[in-house]
Amino acid sequence: MKEILLIITQFTLASLVCCLADRAISGQALWTNRSYCFNCGHPLAWYDMIPLLSAPMLKFRCRNCSQTFTSVPEWLFFEGLFPLMMLTIPFQWSPAYFLHFFLLFLAREDSQKERAHTDIVWLLTPYFLFFNEGLAHDEPVFILLKVFFLTLNFPLMYLQKMGVGDFPVFVLAAIMFDGVAFTNFIFTSTFSTLIFVPLMIKKRKMPFLPFLLFSWIITELI
Ligand SMILES: [Zn+2]
Repeated sequence: MKEILLIITQFTLASLVCCLADRAISGQALWTNRSYCFNCGHPLAWYDMIPLLSAPMLKFRCRNCSQTFTSVPEWLFFEGLFPLMMLTIPFQWSPAYFLHFFLLFLAREDSQKERAHTDIVWLLTPYFLFFNEGLAHDEPVFILLKVFFLTLNFPLMYLQKMGVGDFPVFVLAAIMFDGVAFTNFIFTSTFSTLIFVPLMIKKRKMPFLPFLLFSWIITELI
């Protein structure tokens, strides 16, 4: 029974966070009474908001105006893969655990509009810098490696090969993960991005934050 409740909670939380991210990045109020289509304003019925199930039943389109509200890869990742991966991480009342949902929020924003409120990450970094032991256990060579990688981001951002919004997430990863885990994180995010490039060809720009979130959880599982 506890397991079923946990499964339902994870899928519902993922769906709720995605809904809030969609509203935030569209400039809508985060908390309103009813969910509605951003295109035509049509209010959603309860059966249009069932986590994981409603989107495919609606063929990923608004019931009223037929505007697409999500894609199959997005649905698979945000409403399927993310809650499934979260089920493999033991639940705990800790900022590091709930950080996953904040990263989900940012990843969803990036996926929807190719930008995200990642400035908020800067507000979190002092907390994790002081209360996380990832850096404390690092050997000097790994600290140098992290500094080198983060410095490498600047020319990439200047050349617009990497979004400015991805940088704070890399800084947070450098704080949260020890040297070996951070190296895993970089490799996983790079390779997962390369694998999924063919799925993103319709988009003008590749949203990178979903891959960082995926790699974040994979790194923790390793
Ligand atoms: Zn609509």
